[in-house]
Amino acid sequence: MQAGMSFSELGLSPELLKAIEDAGYVDPTPIQKEAIPYVLMTRDVLGCAQTGTGKTASFTLPMIEILSSGRAKARMPRSLILTPTRELATQIAENFEIYGKYHKLTMALLIGGVSMVEQTKKLDRGVDVLIATPGRLLDHFERGRILLNDIKVLVIDEADRMLDMGFIPDVEKIVSLLPKMRQTLFFSATMAPEIRRLSDAFLQNPKEITVAPKSRPVTETVTQGIAIVNQRAKGDVLRKIIAKEEIKTAIIFCNRKRDVDTLGKSLKSHGMNAAALHGDMDQSSRNDTLERFKNGEINYLVASDVAARGLDIDDLPAVFNYDVPMQAEDYIHRIGRTGRAGRSGKAFTLATPSDVVFLDSIEKLIGNSIPRISVDGYETEALDENDGRKRGRSRKGGSSSSSNQGSKDSGSSRSKRRPREDRPAAAKEATPATEDKARTEEPRAAKPSPEKPREDKPSEAKAENRGGRNASPEKPSRRRQKPEGDKRARNKNENKGGRGGNREKEKTVIGLGDHVPAFLQKPARPS
Ligand code: AMP
Repeated sequence: MQAGMSFSELGLSPELLKAIEDAGYVDPTPIQKEAIPYVLMTRDVLGCAQTGTGKTASFTLPMIEILSSGRAKARMPRSLILTPTRELATQIAENFEIYGKYHKLTMALLIGGVSMVEQTKKLDRGVDVLIATPGRLLDHFERGRILLNDIKVLVIDEADRMLDMGFIPDVEKIVSLLPKMRQTLFFSATMAPEIRRLSDAFLQNPKEITVAPKSRPVTETVTQGIAIVNQRAKGDVLRKIIAKEEIKTAIIFCNRKRDVDTLGKSLKSHGMNAAALHGDMDQSSRNDTLERFKNGEINYLVASDVAARGLDIDDLPAVFNYDVPMQAEDYIHRIGRTGRAGRSGKAFTLATPSDVVFLDSIEKLIGNSIPRISVDGYETEALDENDGRKRGRSRKGGSSSSSNQGSKDSGSSRSKRRPREDRPAAAKEATPATEDKARTEEPRAAKPSPEKPREDKPSEAKAENRGGRNASPEKPSRRRQKPEGDKRARNKNENKGGRGGNREKEKTVIGLGDHVPAFLQKPARPS
């Protein structure tokens, strides 16, 4: 709409223009061109944009302008930015520092894992900008440490992720505590019907801005490849690709926290400069690890989705999916860590034959099939086209193939099998050999730990209860699937005795089953 427009034409003050210049930005990104003038007009904005598009500056820059006149009163912040994760909150705070360097705005960050005493002191002094995760904000509110009736600008960032993490009830509660007369800026990478409903409830006559086609990844700048290999070969294959492609820095995503730790240790044992990042680590170790990764002290960051969500790392050359994400949108978020701000990047995914359903839904979402790659010395496995649910069985000797067949439920499978990142780990430690089994078992261990801080954990559990992002009454929920998963896990255990034994065991036997000599085992007589 406003091609060729420069920052100076957007209505920003000279101080902001100077800060932008200091940051090295030459031209505004499309979302900045579109959103900044409307935010300055105090219009509500509904922005459909992913991270990497410059959306943070599209609201922080005009907010600084708006807040530059006026002063905050004690415990009464003037603006509120709600984000789903601590990392994103920290990044937004960094943005405020960069762009607000010629202003005297005060800011507080209310995130879990950080001392509440310090946060309370800041609130007492009065803050212009409050950046918070929903749980921690409500904690402060419920303890009477904060008043929300002076909020003039509300930003809800990554609304789709809020929904995904079960934060929406908290967000709705917070919004109900805010003045009706306010400006609301609402950002989401996707516009699912539930997100629409929320935006209708929270926004008044918003200017709607979409800067990227719905749910499209940065495919133009990220070269993608997928290796379909045996589960046990993944570690070797990962290191082979890293060596072959000469990748010096990368984020490596795992689906589960415990695999993040295991893989981190494994890479270190192979002499690689790697570290783990996941939601169970305390905030200071998370910050420390991130900082060390950002400044190049760590080369390979093994991470979980929530921990790495929205991470803004300049010039990250590559991303690996050590596991195929079970929710297609996570694939986009993951690969979007590389190829940012117009740079190129590479994204490699390691899949096993039983990932067919997840792969299918990812490829449907991105509208392309991901090129298959082969790795020297490792046989490319065939996707298990018939049944993505037969997890853990891999076929040897197949050739690479397209995954666009054989999946009847690729869309709905996302909601059915969504793993909860901060879910407590299943009882057993995963090893490569037990990974698929553990994946099946994991939903059974989905109870929130009572002593965890409120911010991440209970809401994760809430998302679990609500059936996650795409829960819909007519589709079977994950909970309803659990017995099937349990049964499969049980069958697997029972099957350990060898192939074909299962059919025998399915017959009811009199006596003590396996522990009784075979000659005593007889089929039960029909009564
Ligand atoms: P975001 O989508 O807000 O996470 O921003 C993605 C990256 O783009 C961040 O590293 C920003 O510093 C950078 N960025 C934001 N606006 C611009 C711009 N106008 N020109 C160049 N880089 C930008």
